[in-house]
Amino acid sequence: MGESGAMMSCMGCGYDLRSLPKGRCPECGRAFDPADAKTYRGELRNVNPRAVWIIIIFGLAWPIALILLSYAAWWCGYAELGRWPVESLDDPKGMGQPTRSIVHVALLLMYFSPCALLATLIFAIEPAVIIWERRSFFAAARVVLIAIAGWISLVGFFLLAQSHIVGWMLD
Ligand SMILES: [Zn+2]
Repeated sequence: MGESGAMMSCMGCGYDLRSLPKGRCPECGRAFDPADAKTYRGELRNVNPRAVWIIIIFGLAWPIALILLSYAAWWCGYAELGRWPVESLDDPKGMGQPTRSIVHVALLLMYFSPCALLATLIFAIEPAVIIWERRSFFAAARVVLIAIAGWISLVGFFLLAQSHIVGWMLD
């Protein structure tokens, strides 16, 4: 692990490729060739794995949990009423304990989603800059886009297709 030794890490995921023969990254499968410096990352900077985890939690797990909880609340309301809840008729606060609890958690996630999106963006900056240093502005922009793709699809999905669930929960 000599600090002075040339670094050779995967351009895709940052995996340490030193002492490996030409081939594919064992972590993500990206092809590299030790004889071609354009196929691996040479400098010592690597994407912080913690940043990746924060992006996964706030950028992906959070919006997915919000979608699943919204559906759970909707189905729970159905089970309680024997029909789908109707906005401005079935106040979620007046419903049974299970429905109320799920709506409560879903709304909590919804209200704090701007914070989660902000955290995702902030922690996407470092990986984007590291990739920008090596390649292009577009590659860096792509990292940020991938990081917030979960939120983009959540907003698109809910606003276009499931606005009645959101409307009912916010009732
Ligand atoms: Zn890799």
